[in-house]
Amino acid sequence: MNATELLAKYDVPGPRYTSYPTVPYWTKAPTSEEWLTHLEKAIARSTAAGEGASLYLHIPFCKSLCHYCGCNTFISRDASVSEPYVDDLLTEWSLYAERLGKVKVNEVHLGGGTPTYLTAAQLQRLLGGLFSQMELGPDAELSIEVDPRTTQADQLEVLAKLGFRRISLGIQDFDPTVQHAVNRTQSVEQVREVTETARRLGFTSINYDLIYGLPKQTADSVLRTIETVKGLRPDRIAFYGYAHVPWMKAVQRRFEDSDVPGGTEKRRLYELGRDALEAAGYREIGLDHFALEGDGLWKAYGEGKLHRNFMGYTERRTMPIFGLGVSSIGDTWTAYAQNEKTVPEWHARLAKGELPIVRGHVLTDEDQVLRRHILAVMTQFETDWSGDRVEYLGEVPQKLTEMARDGLIEMRSGGVHVTDAGKPFVRNVCMALDARLARQAPDRPIFSRTV
Ligand code: SF4
Repeated sequence: MNATELLAKYDVPGPRYTSYPTVPYWTKAPTSEEWLTHLEKAIARSTAAGEGASLYLHIPFCKSLCHYCGCNTFISRDASVSEPYVDDLLTEWSLYAERLGKVKVNEVHLGGGTPTYLTAAQLQRLLGGLFSQMELGPDAELSIEVDPRTTQADQLEVLAKLGFRRISLGIQDFDPTVQHAVNRTQSVEQVREVTETARRLGFTSINYDLIYGLPKQTADSVLRTIETVKGLRPDRIAFYGYAHVPWMKAVQRRFEDSDVPGGTEKRRLYELGRDALEAAGYREIGLDHFALEGDGLWKAYGEGKLHRNFMGYTERRTMPIFGLGVSSIGDTWTAYAQNEKTVPEWHARLAKGELPIVRGHVLTDEDQVLRRHILAVMTQFETDWSGDRVEYLGEVPQKLTEMARDGLIEMRSGGVHVTDAGKPFVRNVCMALDARLARQAPDRPIFSRTV
């Protein structure tokens, strides 16, 4: 079977496995008290292992709506909305600190939405306030996602002074036709300015987010974008596939379905982009992620220390993860908890002095074992379950027979190894390990039966 046929055969919708079980298969949220108990135990385990916690801060506001957007975002040009939001984030952390004390934190990440919706003064007030109520590790990794259209030097200066060294710029595509189609117009000069300012201020890891499969994208436009990116030389690149789900995200109806490259064409754009990135010295270190030699992710991958969580790939394991802000997800390995999804509901819970948890999942023993194997496949491209007594694992080899026949994996005694040819299909391998998917959606095959 040639590459095109393989792409067609294994092009089935599947989760990205930033969690297991994946969010649609969560069953019961922990109560606030149960969640705090899970956190206490996770902190004890983490302390014993010499690790620390992660803190994710979700800033949901954006000044305009990108038409491909699948995020939980609130569009507002009214800068005053972010001031009370900062107050509420500080309140939310103080609820945790009251119970858990000064938690040791080794990783802080601001995502969105648009974290640079906050002014320099708001960033200082928020982060300074949070850092005074935690034990921030001396080598903590502090990172932020920024929108080059709204990022000012004074914001980067505040972040740099606070110790931020990682920055991720939303680029997506430099082609004007594509930018127009998705309502996100930003120039190469804007991106260059933010990149160079960040480097000058001491940021040592710069990531660009690119997307393939956007409306109006062509092979030429993808290659031109990557040519421009090469000139700017970010340390890391996330090259994501666009998820076209207009029945869930109405904004995606603002362009024609026929403008969206689908199926094998979309996959071809990925292959072209990947080859161009690799030719430029970037190495694929996990699903949709690339890094230059010397970058921390590259090293972590080489040393077998790559980790993956809701924030994507990370260089080291941190546990638990606190999620602050609207819709944020916390993780103790044994349980997940997600916050209220709208600002008024999230604010109302905090105003009552409650943790704003609305849903989640307490992992069973089976969940925890399968989670470990799915994480290993996503980060190391192999796993070994010979020592585990989980009945479902006995079914996995049969589910992977077709992939083995196609040379995408090799079955080992009590485990699986993903071959180089199989790396683009790593999600399909994880789907075979996903017992909840198998039980609750048995009609979701890991490959297309029509090819
Ligand atoms: S900036 Fe990001 S979160 Fe905001 S609308 Fe655009 S894609 Fe969505």
